[in-house]
Amino acid sequence: MAVHYHLLWGRRGFNYNRPMAIPKQQDEERFAERRCDMVDRQLRARGIADERVLSAMRRVPRHRFVSADLWAEAYADHPLPIGEDQTISQPFIVALMTEALCLHGEEKVLEIGTGSGYQTAILAALAGAVTTIERSFTLSRGARERLTQLGYRNIAFVVGDGTVGLPAEAPFDRILAAGSLPRIPQGLLDQLSNDGILVLPVGDRTLQRLVQIRKTGSSHTTEDLGACRFVPLIGKEGWSV
Ligand code: SAH
Repeated sequence: MAVHYHLLWGRRGFNYNRPMAIPKQQDEERFAERRCDMVDRQLRARGIADERVLSAMRRVPRHRFVSADLWAEAYADHPLPIGEDQTISQPFIVALMTEALCLHGEEKVLEIGTGSGYQTAILAALAGAVTTIERSFTLSRGARERLTQLGYRNIAFVVGDGTVGLPAEAPFDRILAAGSLPRIPQGLLDQLSNDGILVLPVGDRTLQRLVQIRKTGSSHTTEDLGACRFVPLIGKEGWSV
């Protein structure tokens, strides 16, 4: 697997030993209440019905995926900055995409765009194994530390261009792109297993449609899940910088 951490190890500007902030127990209880609220008001009320998805979103501590100064906003109905000019997606979008993947518990999943690792955690809670690929070494390393600390053991982290997928590890039962693409890459369809599902935002750089693609043999069907606005995926099958 193409993990390139060693190439960047020792580059200046990273604090490899920085401690990760850990909330106090009473704060954790308050955050757990906010999560229940988030699930009821932002997800269930807007039509997310998969109980496994709702349960995962109630359990995964979203505040641990943003910096401590943003903890108060962690359960708000919008994206938040995570550094490197990137954002953690709005809870509803994470739930919508996850629901569209129709996960039952055994699937092998490829996620493109690790970011903070929040969506990765939701996928790891609902599938068998997740491989997550991220272009930014810094974000990948942060997500790996965070998810390891939170106890996830079924996630593989890769640094690279996810717009071409990960042919060496294919096929995948599910593929999710957490950033926008100008068109559906044939390579991702090829790396999907039979009856596999691909969920991605496709369109122009500022506005896209969220689509769910189901592969059946050599053909596929596409369902439009609505308008959305994602950060661009930069890469061979994505956008230029
Ligand atoms: N779902 C994530 C947010 C993802 S934002 C979360 O919950 O935090 C999209 C991410 O895709 C960013 O982190 C960005 O750095 C990454 N990205 C951009 N181009 C990419 C590419 N070609 N391959 C992999 N990751 C890419």
